[in-house]
Amino acid sequence: MIGLKDVNKSFTTAAGLLPILKGINVEIGKGEFVALTGPSGSGKSTLMSIVGCLEPPTTGKVYVEGVELSSLSDNEQAELRSRAIGFVFQAFHLIQSLSLEENVEVPLFYAGVPRKDRRKRAREALARVGLSGRTTHKPYELSGGEQQRASIARALIREPGVILADEPTGNLDSKTCEQIMAILEGVRKEGKTILIVTHDQSIAARASRQIRLNDGVIASDSQQVLTCATAGSSGSAESIVPRQAEF
Ligand code: ADP
Ligand code: MG
Repeated sequence: MIGLKDVNKSFTTAAGLLPILKGINVEIGKGEFVALTGPSGSGKSTLMSIVGCLEPPTTGKVYVEGVELSSLSDNEQAELRSRAIGFVFQAFHLIQSLSLEENVEVPLFYAGVPRKDRRKRAREALARVGLSGRTTHKPYELSGGEQQRASIARALIREPGVILADEPTGNLDSKTCEQIMAILEGVRKEGKTILIVTHDQSIAARASRQIRLNDGVIASDSQQVLTCATAGSSGSAESIVPRQAEF
């Protein structure tokens, strides 16, 4: 479903080239619920951006639905991203001047779905996250938990196979956090793949697999414990990736 092979990412800074991700090899299969943890600055958000085709790796290969991204044109990459991947961010990233249903419709607008269908599907998506009564409200009229549920509805609206959530409960109280986790767990039961960045060990413990990043390398992967002794070294992907078949 998702694969990174020998991925490195560096940023150019005033001080020179700054390596952020170093030799990342990972495969995530359909239906996995993966928690990505690690200290602040370890490269978690950078990894999410690369998995989500928001930015390319400096070197290495990224696979989504078995397709190697650099083999696609920019337009094809954008189309794959918007169809196959839904994003949920800590800060919600809802457009304040639009109602919730209009926010949730945005991906359908770009997909060329007619207005009437868009509205119907947006309302269904909002109902799915328990927000039927809030469809015409603006984001600033809602609590953080409601805004995050709306952003999940937006992420799900095109039925992507993969949901990437970067600290989705980071700003929320524990009761609201539980609601968000229950929704994500429901989404996973539908067979979707979920990759969630979290600092909260109790959330990470609910995932089917935990991957820990440290200083740009995979320090541990609960599914690769036996085979991953060389993670972060320059060993070939084949020697440490256990399940080739799932691409
Ligand atoms: P995390 O999400 O684990 O906290 P990030 O992936 O956001 O970490 O960032 C990892 C490191 O990369 C940080 O030191 C950050 O300052 C640096 N970084 C991220 N994006 C850029 C960028 N566009 N230019 C330069 N440095 C960046
Ligand atoms: Mg981050």
